[in-house]
Amino acid sequence: MDSFIRKQYLQGTAVIDQHKGTKSELGGFLATIPLDTIIVPTLSAIAMPSGIILHDTYETIIDTLIGHLKGQQLDGIFLALHGSMCVQGIEDPEGDLLRRLRQMFPQAVIGCTLDHHANVTKEMVEYSDFLVGYRTHPHVDHYEVGCAAAALMVRPDIKKLEKAFVKLPFVTPAENRSEPIEKLKTYAELLFQNPDIVGASFFVGYPWADVSIMGCSVYVLQKKAILGTSMPSTRFAEEFASFFWSLRDDFHFALEKVDSIPKLLKQKGKQKIEGPLVLDELSDCTFGGSSGDAVATAWYLANQHIAKSIVIGIVDAETVERAFTVGAGNTEHFTIGGKICRKDNPSIVGKATVASLHKDVRPQSPMLMESGMLFKRVAIIDFRGVLLAVIEYPGQIGGPAFLEAVGLRVEDFDCIVVKEGMNPFVTYREVASSIVMVESPGFNPQVLSPDLYTRLIEPVYPIFPMEADSYIPRRCI
Ligand SMILES: [Zn+2]
Repeated sequence: MDSFIRKQYLQGTAVIDQHKGTKSELGGFLATIPLDTIIVPTLSAIAMPSGIILHDTYETIIDTLIGHLKGQQLDGIFLALHGSMCVQGIEDPEGDLLRRLRQMFPQAVIGCTLDHHANVTKEMVEYSDFLVGYRTHPHVDHYEVGCAAAALMVRPDIKKLEKAFVKLPFVTPAENRSEPIEKLKTYAELLFQNPDIVGASFFVGYPWADVSIMGCSVYVLQKKAILGTSMPSTRFAEEFASFFWSLRDDFHFALEKVDSIPKLLKQKGKQKIEGPLVLDELSDCTFGGSSGDAVATAWYLANQHIAKSIVIGIVDAETVERAFTVGAGNTEHFTIGGKICRKDNPSIVGKATVASLHKDVRPQSPMLMESGMLFKRVAIIDFRGVLLAVIEYPGQIGGPAFLEAVGLRVEDFDCIVVKEGMNPFVTYREVASSIVMVESPGFNPQVLSPDLYTRLIEPVYPIFPMEADSYIPRRCI
């Protein structure tokens, strides 16, 4: 619950005040829905991805939402969901929520926007009237999907449309290459050229959830087929799914080993390329739910005496507390990181100097949807010439904006290590000499090994090998 309150937990008109005029899904929805619509704002709850949501927390949030809806006469319900929430004891929380809302409002139009990392289920499709997924990665089309949702919400024929849903027996690494995503996006756009197609979304799934419903899917919404004149939606969805399946080996990034850092820095120097080398620790991406306390790359930089380098966003509340006690300019013995993620991730142990201390740091992210997040305390610690930016909890770092907020500049560094998934491709695009995915420990490994999963009922590629011709896409709905 603390994680939600820290990031966003708003009720009633505060939801509108926060989102109206912004580029969020709700911002897009509010900008597009007809002006004479009476809006009943309820609840906006957002947490940074992290461990599983406790059952009580989930129930508290859902009870609060339902409390706002009780006694209302509603024509429609719009939800901006992620789609891969994991809750203690509930396999499919989004499906559960939509089922409860459908029971309360059998006649209302219920529609959702979803992240393209959603683990979509049959229940989610069944209990909603429409789903719209992001088509970009990094996700920058929140506003557009919100606009699309509003347009669907007021379609007079929305209840008459046909939904087709295919779940695929595979999952992509959550941080995936842009080429196959672009191909899927183009495929969906081509589908829209058919006047009968009203919606077409693809979801890559969220691979680090140990749930049976994990995996990729496609969703098509179309006008009911008129015999002999149009193709049944089954075919569209199944063909879309087959195309998706054909791309299954194209999503993976090649990761660089940390010991290639000197070579990469040398190349940069030789070619006189301006800007720092940005090393992205994908496996410890806090946006993906990892702990943010992997320090293997930091260890390497310190041991190799790689000057002008910084590691941004090591999550370690204990170290921040200690740094504030020690005070800026003082040197003490520290144990940094490696406290939550312990596998292959020994803490940084040794004498370190508190370089600077900062309170109420709120970097503004250039990512379209993200408003700045407050870091109450940040400690910049110098360990053997490498700066470590230590924070108390995972948050939206905001790219170079974070450096500015703690009095540092991008141009001060040759090497910047971040833990932000695909976001650096937006946030550092203009200032980095190059952005490289580096192999490091973390809860979001790129290689999905079978031992990470206990709940899968059916084989999921590439966790389990599967022959190319062993799968025929079949519509679930
Ligand atoms: Zn996502």
